[in-house]
Amino acid sequence: MSDTPVIGVLALQGDVREHLIALASADALARPVRRPEELAEVDGLVIPGGESTTMSKLAVLFGMMEPLRERVRAGLPVYGTCAGMIMLAEKILDPRSGQETVGGIDMIVRRNAFGRQNESFEAAVEVAGIDGGPVEGVFIRAPWVESVGAEAEVIAEHGGHIVAVRQRNVLATSFHPELTGDHRVHALFVDMVRAVK
Ligand code: GLN
Repeated sequence: MSDTPVIGVLALQGDVREHLIALASADALARPVRRPEELAEVDGLVIPGGESTTMSKLAVLFGMMEPLRERVRAGLPVYGTCAGMIMLAEKILDPRSGQETVGGIDMIVRRNAFGRQNESFEAAVEVAGIDGGPVEGVFIRAPWVESVGAEAEVIAEHGGHIVAVRQRNVLATSFHPELTGDHRVHALFVDMVRAVK
């Protein structure tokens, strides 16, 4: 159907497949995006979890960094999880040398903030705008958000730290809803894409 939003998943590195499945469950047409021509055809984009340093390098290498920045600036709805959240930050603490970001949310993000001893954990997270109780947050070497600018809205916290933020058409979570069977965060993003489309 023509009013079904087409949502890309940036497929340079990371857990692309899980996002494609979650988006399809949330009634979007989901497809991998690797090239500028593919980016030009989508109504929204997910930047997956993975390793932001590698993703950043590959985005530059594949000529995707500038097209990504341009489309986000022009209002493309984007959702980033974990490494994807890092890619959407205007500023990162402890970046690897040469690590670049796409930007889109006025926030400062700390990589690997939840620490090595707790490399991976799950926690129930209450997310503003999502009904039906907390979502199960899967945190894997997850970042947290140190601070946000005036335009950015904090929509979830865990242990006193910001773990989900929205700024206009851009959404970011420290955790990975694509790894659970619960697709409410993806459904929220699909609604954001529909609202723009
Ligand atoms: N720590 C990773 C990074 O800095 C993110 C981990 C993840 O996406 N699960 O990119």
